Amino acid sequence: MKIDAIRTHLLEHRLGTAFQSASARFDHRRHLLVEVVCDDGTIGWGECLGPSTLNAAVVAAYAPLFIGRNPLDTEILWAEAYNHLRDQGMRGLAVTALSGIDIALWDIKGKHFGVPVSVLLGGRVREEVRAYATGSFMRDGVDRVADIAAEVAGYRAEGFDAAKIKIGFDVAEDIRVIEAAREAMGPDMGLMIDANHGYDTGEAIALGNAVAHLDIGWFEEPVVPENMTAYRAVRDRQPIPVAGGETWHGRYAMGQALDAEAVDILQPDLAGVGGFTEMRRVADQAMLAAVRLVPHVWGTGVHIAAALQWMAAQLPDPVRPAPRPPILEFDRTENPFRQAVLSTPLEHVEGSVAIPDGPGLGIEIDRDTLSRFAPAQDT
Ligand code: CA
Repeated sequence: MKIDAIRTHLLEHRLGTAFQSASARFDHRRHLLVEVVCDDGTIGWGECLGPSTLNAAVVAAYAPLFIGRNPLDTEILWAEAYNHLRDQGMRGLAVTALSGIDIALWDIKGKHFGVPVSVLLGGRVREEVRAYATGSFMRDGVDRVADIAAEVAGYRAEGFDAAKIKIGFDVAEDIRVIEAAREAMGPDMGLMIDANHGYDTGEAIALGNAVAHLDIGWFEEPVVPENMTAYRAVRDRQPIPVAGGETWHGRYAMGQALDAEAVDILQPDLAGVGGFTEMRRVADQAMLAAVRLVPHVWGTGVHIAAALQWMAAQLPDPVRPAPRPPILEFDRTENPFRQAVLSTPLEHVEGSVAIPDGPGLGIEIDRDTLSRFAPAQDT
């Protein structure tokens, strides 16, 4: 079995209403799928987190290293590709692009052996996960306080028992948004806050202390992701557990964050951290540091499927009679191709998502959707 080709598929949709986090404005949704084709006809699918056209260029640069090689050699191929760009690419796009290829190789490996990726990872601890709703961005032309209160009330009505809202814009207004969200969702629903590194250290500490009484599950990306000292200061000087990791790629970045005791909750993204191959190492790092692992997810159904396979196999840690299960980040913002790329959508039922048990990622791709959402210049 040999790899014949590596292709990328850029998907694009212009949003009806633009929205923004503290770090990025979205007037389009753009995501990149990776397709790895083998000489026996087996096809694997992956996805890259981050700027799609740049990821596509790096995937294309990696492709010659993989063509003609055995797709089952996931560790060997990962190490060779990583070392190929290591001197200039130890983090960032070099790793996010490799992540998409690696996920596709694990999809192929599962299909080859006729088992889901979760079985390759060591076995299925669970067949479904609870999802938490991610949304509540700042939308153009609306009052954030009322808008986000209504949004989280909607998630509650849909059956979600936790939601994450976007802050990091302005401390005073963000506090009002968090208060309104808690009021709208009631006392029993989980509420997490995500600043997308919009605060300086003092602002993050002030906000954390101001809203801690509202039972906040975690405070995500409070400060810039380059500064572990700032992360540690936020942990030390306000009571909400600190989360981060979606911008840290590979074991060395994760190791630096853990060594600095920067987070209570580590959030590696399969499509950014280096795929399943590197995620296994990062999970071991988190376990050694006694830090909770909650994967970050922001992409299409391919990305969701990969996260689900990971979480199926994610071991209870710490072990106890009723260990805390992993929870799935479930993006609720506008994206018409998120589920349409899959022949069978991975939707939630009352806040729970079943984990596919078919070979590989357990999904089939709808190629009509790939054509329909391809950018105009590529068709
Ligand atoms: Ca985030």
